[in-house]
Amino acid sequence: MSESSVLAALVSGLRGGSIEVVDLTSPLSSSTPVIQLPPQFGQTAVFELEEISRYDDRGPAWYWNNFRSGEHTGTHFDAPNHWVTGKDLADVASVPARRLMAPAAVLDFTAEAAKNPDFLVEIDHVKAWETENGPLPDGGWLLLRTGWDTRSHSQEEFLNADENGPHTPGLSAECARWVAEDTPVIGLGVETVGTDAGAAHSFDPVFPCHSYLMGSDKYGLTQLRNLAALPPTGSVVIAGPLPIVTGSGAPARVLALVERS
Ligand code: MN
Repeated sequence: MSESSVLAALVSGLRGGSIEVVDLTSPLSSSTPVIQLPPQFGQTAVFELEEISRYDDRGPAWYWNNFRSGEHTGTHFDAPNHWVTGKDLADVASVPARRLMAPAAVLDFTAEAAKNPDFLVEIDHVKAWETENGPLPDGGWLLLRTGWDTRSHSQEEFLNADENGPHTPGLSAECARWVAEDTPVIGLGVETVGTDAGAAHSFDPVFPCHSYLMGSDKYGLTQLRNLAALPPTGSVVIAGPLPIVTGSGAPARVLALVERS
């Protein structure tokens, strides 16, 4: 590679530390929080390891496991076919690889979510962000920072549910429709258990982020962490869901490249 090559500059930046790799992924274990639907619906599995051998009679020199997991367990990618509105669109294995590396806009609503766990982002909030930071990135992600990652050690705190259901921040139905249909982003990334707000079961339409994003051939990323380490603009997200053939989503390792001056 020549010295002027973009990839050579990237490698040099990574080695020299001027480009930082931020891990946006929540570790996967049996205590990773999972979404809980009302009891009449099917439920997703928690992540479980099943040991095959560990340097023992079952395999004297090797350690390995089988695992069981929901497609939508932990930090994961929602494919368009996850929702009925996108049922004829891409499964997770069909998402083009070039769309798995994309710029990110990070919108910080940590203060609002701390005051009100049911805080909803409206179109005007995003427009105010754009006035300050420029337009949402064409072909990029809208990442919603809410501070919710600090609760991810506890299923109870993470879901934050009472007799009326979960209380977690997200987008209003109107904002979800606008992001899906009228902005150039490829998807929405959040720190919470799903892309929709906790109260979205009673929105019109129900679960509007899922409904509008998947129906618009867009994607979701959930249970992100460390968004506080990202600037409002200029980072690049690498999202790597497992290519489960016909799958509706998959656990994903999600990284961000951030340039440090
Ligand atoms: Mn999901």
